[in-house]
Amino acid sequence: MTTKKSTSPPPPPSGPSSCLRDESRLEGFASEIKNPADHRTFLDLARKCLARGEPMTFQGARTGLAGGAVPQGGTAVGLGALDRPVALEKGPGGFELLVQPGYTLAALRRDLARRKFDFISPGRASRAEKVLAEFQRGSYFWPPDPGEAAATLGGAASTNAAGPNAGFRGPAGGHIAGLNFLFSDGEERPVRRGEHVFREGALRLPDGRTLEADPRALGLPPTADLTDILIGSQGMYGAVTGVRLRLSPAPAHVWGLVFFAGSEQRAAAFMELFLDSPPEPLVSLDYLDKASLDVVAEMRGKASRLAEIPDLPGTARGAVLAEFQSMDEGLIEQASLAALRFCQEAGLDPDDSWALTDAETDKMRMLRHAVPEGLGGRLDRVRAQGFPALRTSTDFTVPGRGLGELLSEYRRDLEGGGLPAVVYGHAKDNHLHVNVIPENDGQVARAGELARHWLERAKKARGGLFVEHGVGKLRRELFLEAESPERIAALRSLKKTLDPNNLFNPGNMFA
Ligand SMILES: Cc1cc2nc3c(=O)[nH]c(=O)nc-3n(C[C@H](O)[C@H](O)[C@H](O)COP(=O)(O)OP(=O)(O)OC[C@H]3O[C@@H](n4cnc5c(N)ncnc54)[C@H](O)[C@@H]3O)c2cc1C
Repeated sequence: MTTKKSTSPPPPPSGPSSCLRDESRLEGFASEIKNPADHRTFLDLARKCLARGEPMTFQGARTGLAGGAVPQGGTAVGLGALDRPVALEKGPGGFELLVQPGYTLAALRRDLARRKFDFISPGRASRAEKVLAEFQRGSYFWPPDPGEAAATLGGAASTNAAGPNAGFRGPAGGHIAGLNFLFSDGEERPVRRGEHVFREGALRLPDGRTLEADPRALGLPPTADLTDILIGSQGMYGAVTGVRLRLSPAPAHVWGLVFFAGSEQRAAAFMELFLDSPPEPLVSLDYLDKASLDVVAEMRGKASRLAEIPDLPGTARGAVLAEFQSMDEGLIEQASLAALRFCQEAGLDPDDSWALTDAETDKMRMLRHAVPEGLGGRLDRVRAQGFPALRTSTDFTVPGRGLGELLSEYRRDLEGGGLPAVVYGHAKDNHLHVNVIPENDGQVARAGELARHWLERAKKARGGLFVEHGVGKLRRELFLEAESPERIAALRSLKKTLDPNNLFNPGNMFA
């Protein structure tokens, strides 16, 4: 969990304040705010800034939770208007959809469902039409499922966004075949997976220079390539100007099962049974604690679109959300029967469950999404009362631990600190988001102590430390404390090579 209160007030905002903050509620400042209308205007602007030595902070939809898109001076550059699909091609692994960075997840889902694209540059018409016709004979999707559909693909690539199914399917990066990228020399270049690969501690950059680095020190596998460096880099090495999405055949059947538990420990026992022998079509297993369900109830009273969510059982002290996807509905049925067995074994009442099929699974997504969304609203209320609270949330995995035991420890620690919390997240590898909305300085300090204590434990368990939402600015202090000096030195050296004048997203990760 990161907790940080704004200490010194920044200079007054110079433009629409919404462009100076993101979903974390961290507030920034900029000398200019620009939202180029198209790709060419963006390139001209970026090149002018580079020539003048003007820092830039790139912004997608600003749904990020770590302050990565919040400017600390220089020009804030919104890429939201670059929001179109560019081309559909057939790559070695299947269909690849090249999109502009401001194209949103919602637009992607819509266009894939209707199998129609409003391409900017059809390329050689006959070839493009042939590929589109072949595509339209099947059904395809982009597997990553980050929770906020307003997020852009440029933002998802830059944070290597994850979401509920990442424990099973991996984060966004594994489903990206390449990027178009603006580098510090002002040149925009395509970077494909499998090109620019590390060999014997060195990698050939597209501009011909050699990057010498140990990929393991950067937290990458030995055979990583440049896309692995650029994806998840939070705009620190340049701008994503195109994302090449690797599409997969869409599962014919999607089911969502939601189980309600009368106690947290029963919910945990149920999830442990699931994880001991995960039925094959399981793609996500998420937990919402009682406080999360309270947030949802609060939200339902305010947002009419949430009326579609069925009533939550009044006795529920936690909910487990399981999603199954398969071409074979029989497999999902078998998995559901296994889930019912686990449910009875763990002492949950199967009557307190929802079975949602195909389009209905959106109700499960709405339920899950209502929690982080509602937390944003709570944060705003605390801030409106005059305390500059920031969004706080843990974002690490603790592999190899029993979920029930870990949840008990969190509860004990939170109770000891007198901190009300909302706990939700992904059961696989115990990737829980423990959220505290501090209402005074004492709570900020105690939440910070716990964050450090828990992060140490995640390190000992060899878990991932800043897994889903990135480091940005909000988690910078914690990141610099928690990561090894070797990792930090390697990352600083990489930043120096790719952005020698520190003009791209200054303040992210490093001060
Ligand atoms: C309700 C809610 C639920 C969420 N659920 C999830 C979830 O399940 N999983 C998850 O991973 N995240 C989740 N998020 C966080 C957020 O949606 C993701 O981090 C998303 O990828 C951010 O996309 P964005 O377009 O809003 O990027 P922004 O917030 O605008 O930017 C994020 C970072 O990327 C950089 N960036 C953006 N575009 C570019 C570009 N074109 N070139 C270079 N750098 C760029 C920014 O500078 C910043 O550092 C959630 C957020 C909310 C509010």
